[in-house]
Amino acid sequence: IPSVCLEGVGKTYQTGAVAVEALKDVNISVYAGDYLAIMGPSGSGKSTLMNILGCLDRPTVGRYLLDGLDVATLDDRQLARIRNGKLGFVFQNFQLLPRIDALSNVELPMIYAGLGARERRRRAEEALTRVGLAERMRHKPNEMSGGQKQRVAIARALVNRPLLLLADEPTGNLDSKTSIEIMDIFQALNAEGTTIIIITHEPDIAAYAKRVVTCRDGRVTQRKGEAE
Ligand code: ADP
Ligand code: ADP
Repeated sequence: IPSVCLEGVGKTYQTGAVAVEALKDVNISVYAGDYLAIMGPSGSGKSTLMNILGCLDRPTVGRYLLDGLDVATLDDRQLARIRNGKLGFVFQNFQLLPRIDALSNVELPMIYAGLGARERRRRAEEALTRVGLAERMRHKPNEMSGGQKQRVAIARALVNRPLLLLADEPTGNLDSKTSIEIMDIFQALNAEGTTIIIITHEPDIAAYAKRVVTCRDGRVTQRKGEAE
């Protein structure tokens, strides 16, 4: 079964009398080990799609199966648990807590998951070493460069061993050299088996993925790689 399966997914925002159809009949299957980029101009529905994939929002029509589970049947608590346990998130603006060091930031999702202190520390050190930050674990976000902050965020996204890594414009705040370093990390993680979906409006960044789909006026079409 696919890790992610969207079937006929649509999303309509209703604001007063005005209805905006942000997504229309979206069908996406992502299998374990896949690396998918979702491209598209501003207003095309990428954030709406990301919110649905990330279980922050639900489709108005259609079905979302995550690891075989129909997301529509889950309550908010179950969704929060799935977000923390099965998904890893990387954002454009890093979303690190500023007052605690890299280790503590990376340990957070494991606190939510109920892991013990020793295991949390072990896994956080391992993940930070994996992204090349062995020498920066005790630094706070404001003592780090953008690229280093994004590495911390990637380590945080991985520590609960997610089924799927969701990255929303992960290089949007980085210069091109640092962007390449970050994309190289995603590439290596994918080569090791991590399933990745990345949202970007930059073709150079999308080119790292195995498959690219384009979002336009709420519709998603295949661009690169074979159809399922
Ligand atoms: P993108 O991320 O590609 O810029 P979005 O998913 O943010 O696209 O938006 C897709 C469409 O849905 C746009 O027309 C946008 O104005 C509309 N939209 C997005 N969020 C909302 C919302 N919360 N309420 C009403 N309309 C929205
Ligand atoms: P809840 O509905 O239980 O309050 P949230 O929607 O706040 O859950 O968070 C859902 C998941 O997002 C959490 O389980 C956690 O993994 C992640 N999360 C929330 N806040 C943070 C944060 N500051 N740092 C890292 N992860 C966070």
